[in-house]
Amino acid sequence: MKKISLLGATGSIGTQTLEVIASHPDKFQLEALSIGKNIELGLKQIIEYKPKLVSVQFKEDYDKLLKEVPNTVKLMYGNEGIEEVAANNDADILVNAVLGSVGLRPTLSAIRAGKTIAIANKETLVTAGHIVTSEAKKYNTQLLPVDSEHSAIFQCLQGERLKEVEKLILTASGGSFRDKDRSELKNVTVDDALNHPNWSMGAKITIDSATMMNKGLEVIEAHWLFDMSYEKIDVLLHQESIIHSMVEFMDGSVIAQLGTPDMKVPIQFALTYPERLQLEGKKRLNLSEIGKLHFSKPSFDRFRCLDFAFEAGRKGGSYPTVLNAANEQAVSLFLEGEISFLQIEEAIERTLDEHTYIASPSLEVIQDIDFQTRQLVKTLMVK
Ligand code: NDP
Ligand code: MG
Repeated sequence: MKKISLLGATGSIGTQTLEVIASHPDKFQLEALSIGKNIELGLKQIIEYKPKLVSVQFKEDYDKLLKEVPNTVKLMYGNEGIEEVAANNDADILVNAVLGSVGLRPTLSAIRAGKTIAIANKETLVTAGHIVTSEAKKYNTQLLPVDSEHSAIFQCLQGERLKEVEKLILTASGGSFRDKDRSELKNVTVDDALNHPNWSMGAKITIDSATMMNKGLEVIEAHWLFDMSYEKIDVLLHQESIIHSMVEFMDGSVIAQLGTPDMKVPIQFALTYPERLQLEGKKRLNLSEIGKLHFSKPSFDRFRCLDFAFEAGRKGGSYPTVLNAANEQAVSLFLEGEISFLQIEEAIERTLDEHTYIASPSLEVIQDIDFQTRQLVKTLMVK
């Protein structure tokens, strides 16, 4: 029986993680969960999954929920609550499916508490990859990828030697606007951007897919998870999202992981690793039905965010923190209708241009840069 705690239970990855847990009650037990603002869904989850510990984002929601949760549940809120869910309970594994750099502190607490981390929360690795990976090494804890591309690469690397890897090849669907050229992107709406062709995901990552920043963040995520230089990471457009990523080795062999686009596969693999389990209700991959798969090279002029991410990754230091915070803030302004789609990349470019490099930022410095960057994006972009 694996004991699990889950950050971001009410989100897209969070709810799918709960479905995986529910489909194998003999294998998994939910110890603790955290939610943000969606207390209606949160309450349903508490009643169905009976965690011992729950944290909500805000005090007023805590006050409301306190009257409704069974008295077997310890309820908390805010930063203290989310860290408690991450670190201070009997769970063996933390699934971090929270959105954004808010996931950083709880991840570090869980590492220090010796939990295995199944990480979906890529922003944490982008904003402070050097700290997260060095702490994981220091405390001898494992970081298991949940992101489908990184799970694919992780699966392709089983039994292989990292020094024999020539390239990690991350596949990208191209997002909602893959068939549009730049001139057609001027007037696209939030609803257009939220309409992803292959995956049903949370709002922020769906916008990140449309700008291709999602792939940019994933390049940096791959750099940290697999200790790979940026020269050895490639992105390949593959519109069907059937090949989830590949690894090319020094002898020219390429190993790929394939499957229907279903996040429950990588979620479950992170929970059961190194074993595999039957996946309930899965539609199996049928290549003869699909017939053809397509590939092409992404253009950095068309997908400028991909270029920004490679550059921020190569420069290193504090640049990825700025890239991530600027993107988080710009995407929320876009979702709120404050800026246009193309202004997302403008915000990121301008903020990166204004930044002065810091070599190896500490946790405190990262949190300060994260805050300042968000303020700067608002000042630059909102009239
Ligand atoms: P969602 O927006 O669907 O869910 C985010 C979760 O985090 C919700 O439970 C939300 O709570 C909670 N949350 C958000 N902000 C805060 C906060 N400030 N404090 C506490 N809790 C908060 O996101 P996704 O599930 O799509 O994505 C989660 C992570 O997984 C992201 O890092 C994303 O990049 C990554 N990922 C997602 C994939 C997908 O298919 N969705 C695929 C690969 C990676 P509430 O809703 O209650 O407010
Ligand atoms: Mg992904």
